[in-house]
Amino acid sequence: MPHEVDMTKALILSLKEWWAEAQEARQVKAVILQVGDFTCVEPDLLTRSFAQQRLSVPFLQDAELVIHPIPFVAHCRACVQDYQPDLGLHYACPTCQAPLHDIRSGRELKIERVEWADEMASIKM
Ligand SMILES: [Zn+2]
Repeated sequence: MPHEVDMTKALILSLKEWWAEAQEARQVKAVILQVGDFTCVEPDLLTRSFAQQRLSVPFLQDAELVIHPIPFVAHCRACVQDYQPDLGLHYACPTCQAPLHDIRSGRELKIERVEWADEMASIKM
């Protein structure tokens, strides 16, 4: 759990910086976060932690954290192909057993986008 709590703190800090730069005194409706499968982050814990910590931030009162999982994909240089590493195989290439070298995706932990609360209202007008 502490891992996710710290991560949420870091996330909220980035959101505060971003919000200060955006110069829009609006509420945030949703924060879409990319979380790679290889980051060891428990999405449920992150969501729960965010639901608690957002309460101390005025513009995040009703914000929802939406997690976009990114699959863990590696590339084998010998086979010149991408594969999904398996923990049982120690992440080695399933075809030639070469150890994991290049990670294509799965280590992401970043804000994809932020939705404003009154976005829909402004579209209707
Ligand atoms: Zn291979």
